[in-house]
Amino acid sequence: MTSTSKPHTDQPGEPATTRVGTVVIGGGQAGLAAGYYLRRAGADFVVLDAQSGPGGTWRHGWDSLRLFSPARYSPLPGWWMPDQPGEPFPTSRHVRRYLADYEHRYQLPVQRPVDVERVDADRDTLLVSAARRRWRADAVISATGSWRCPHRPRYPGHDLFTGGQLHTVSYRRPAPFAGQRVAVIGGGNSAAQILAEVSTVADTVWLTAHPPRFLPDDVDGRVLFDIATRREIAARQNQPDTGGVAGLGDIVMVPAVRAARDRGILHAHPMADRLTPAGLAWNDGTHIAVDTIIWCTGFRPDLSHLAPLKLSLTGAGTPRTDGTRSLDQPRLHLLGYGDWTGTGSATLVGAARTARDCVAQITGTRARQPFRTA
Ligand code: FAD
Repeated sequence: MTSTSKPHTDQPGEPATTRVGTVVIGGGQAGLAAGYYLRRAGADFVVLDAQSGPGGTWRHGWDSLRLFSPARYSPLPGWWMPDQPGEPFPTSRHVRRYLADYEHRYQLPVQRPVDVERVDADRDTLLVSAARRRWRADAVISATGSWRCPHRPRYPGHDLFTGGQLHTVSYRRPAPFAGQRVAVIGGGNSAAQILAEVSTVADTVWLTAHPPRFLPDDVDGRVLFDIATRREIAARQNQPDTGGVAGLGDIVMVPAVRAARDRGILHAHPMADRLTPAGLAWNDGTHIAVDTIIWCTGFRPDLSHLAPLKLSLTGAGTPRTDGTRSLDQPRLHLLGYGDWTGTGSATLVGAARTARDCVAQITGTRARQPFRTA
C-alpha cells in the first residue's frame, strides 16, 4: 500500500486529489469495522462519510427503536458494546454513542461530511470524487448501507390517494396518527414494530404481500446470531451448510410486538390491488378508507456512486461479488448491505466478520500491528 496522503492538484481548476491506499465510503458500522482492520494492518486509508456526525443509520429511525439483542451480542471488532443500564436491549441512541466512541477509541480517520458522488476506474487505480475533493486509491470499500434508498413499490392509482403517505425512513412516533385509520404495509420487523405502536393510538390495518412469518417468542437476536455463527464456522471449515435463519421466520417478537399480538392486532391481510383517492381497493370489490399509509417496504443498497463502474448485476439486482470483492472491478469491495456481501454483514456482529476478510484481501495480510486507543 502506498502511504503518500499528500494532496496535489491534477490540473488547474480541478479538485485537489489525495493519493491514498484505501478509501472506505461510508462511516456507519460496516465502514468503522473495516477501518479497525485497516488500522490494525497498518494500512494507509481514509473513511469518507456523508453525515455531519457519527452513527450511520443509527442516527435515524424511530424514537423507540432498539436492538433486538443485548449489547454483548452486537460488538464491533476489538471492543464490546457496553451494556446500557436499565435497558436489556439497547436503544438506537446507545448504539450511536457506541459508534461515536468506537471511532474515537481507534482514532479512525473519518472525514465528514463528505458525500461521494462517483467512483471511476482510472489507470490502475480508482478515483473517488466528492464535490470539492478527489482521492486516488488502490482499493475502495463501499459501505454506504441502504437507509438513503427507501423502497416503495408502485401500485395502480399511487398518484390518486389523497391521504398522508410516509415510508419507514420518515416515521418517528405514533402520536401524529392518534385517532386516524392507518394502513401499515410490509411484512418485516419494521412493519410489525411500527404497527404495534401506532395501533395503540390509531385504528390500524396491516397489509402484506406474503403472510408474515413470526419467530418463536424465545428467539431474539441472540439465537439468530448463534445460528449465523454456526453457519459461518461451517463454511470456513468446508463443512455442510448448517442453514441460515430464513427458515425460522422473519419477525422478532420483541415485547411491543408480543403485546400487540396479545391485543389481537397482528392480523395481516393480503396487499390491496390498487390505491384509490380515499384508500385501498381489491379486485373483488373490497375497499377500505384510510387517512394515512405507512410503507414499511424496505430499502435497496445505496450504490449510485458506483454507476460509472458499470458493474454487472445478479438476478437479484445486486453487483456480482465473490465475498465482498466485486467480480467486475477487483479493486472494489462491497461491505454491509446484506447477506450477498457475507453472512449477516448488515448487522453489527456480521459487519465485523466480513470486514475482517475484506481487509485481509486488500492488505494481503492478517498481520497484527500494535495501535493505541484514544
Ligand atoms: P449505515 O449504518 O447506513 O451507514 C452507511 C453510512 O454511509 C451512512 O453514514 C451514510 O450517510 C453514508 N453514506 C451513504 N452514501 C454515501 C456516499 N455516497 N458518500 C459518503 N457516505 C455515504 N442490526 C443489528 O445488528 N441488530 C439489530 O437489532 C438491528 N435492528 C435493526 C432495526 C432496523 C429498523 C433497521 C433498519 C436495521 C437494523 N439492523 C440491526 C441492521 C443494521 O445494523 C443496519 O442496517 C446498519 O446500520 C447497517 O450498517 P452499515 O454501516 O452497512 O450502513
